[in-house]
Amino acid sequence: MDSIDAAELALSLPEVDPERPSPARIYDFWLGGSQNFEADREAGRRAAQAMPNLPVSAQANRVFLRHVIEDLVTERGITQFLDLGSGVPTAGNVHEAAQAVDPGATVVYIDIDPVAIAHARSLLADNPSAHAALADVRDPGVVLEHPVVRDSIDWTKPVAVLLFAVLHFIPDDDQAERIVRAFTEPCAPGSYLALSHGAPDHAALEAQQNAARDYAARTGVPFTPRTAEQITPWLSGLDIQPPGVEDIRVWVPSLNVSHTGMAPCLGVLARKPVAG
Ligand code: SAM
Repeated sequence: MDSIDAAELALSLPEVDPERPSPARIYDFWLGGSQNFEADREAGRRAAQAMPNLPVSAQANRVFLRHVIEDLVTERGITQFLDLGSGVPTAGNVHEAAQAVDPGATVVYIDIDPVAIAHARSLLADNPSAHAALADVRDPGVVLEHPVVRDSIDWTKPVAVLLFAVLHFIPDDDQAERIVRAFTEPCAPGSYLALSHGAPDHAALEAQQNAARDYAARTGVPFTPRTAEQITPWLSGLDIQPPGVEDIRVWVPSLNVSHTGMAPCLGVLARKPVAG
């Protein structure tokens, strides 16, 4: 994968403050990526001191993401993806996984982080079916009206709306539910919503709370783990696909072996029903 020098990139993005860690770049650091600054690495190291399983949990989330994308393309015929809170593109991106099966699959990446989107744009410069736009998922109307989304997504055909590891950065339950509903509402019947979401780590609750407190203090972004009981009501009107709102180790049993000790993370795949 192309690599952009993060410091060089920051110089071209005056809105980026390299001293302020960002969730996208901390996550990139945990995944072993290069699109992060010292402040991101420091915040990532501190969080991982409190909760040593955070990097392995981030990697497990990517395994789940690829599992779902491959299933959506191969088994369910989905060819359009709206990836909300897409992060810094890393190996095994949505477009790589989808286009490996269907080279014409359309992918739109949305993220609030300018470095993530600049990197995505550079990576996708020669890819006519994958695009990236800087936007905030808390403003669904702005995202849906963004020219990149309007020009790329055909809402008369099934779409997969992806919210992987992003809604736990929305502390207000009602707002998180509104986001889910706003993006699934315009979808054609037969569309899918896929998401993952950090869950309370009952084996290390205090450590998780300490890590979340420090993370929020450094990034300005709170982390709100939720249970299946909190997430399930957001999905009313959609058909939840087996195995349900479940830990991603239930979705991908090999994670129990390959990612031992990861923090709890819930996975969801839900389908917009076809009338009749
Ligand atoms: N979805 C990717 C994945 O699962 O591999 C990246 C997950 S990363 C943990 C969370 C991403 O959500 C970050 O890139 C962050 O910038 C983005 N994000 C957080 N709040 C957001 C918001 N309000 N609007 C858009 N993106 C947001």
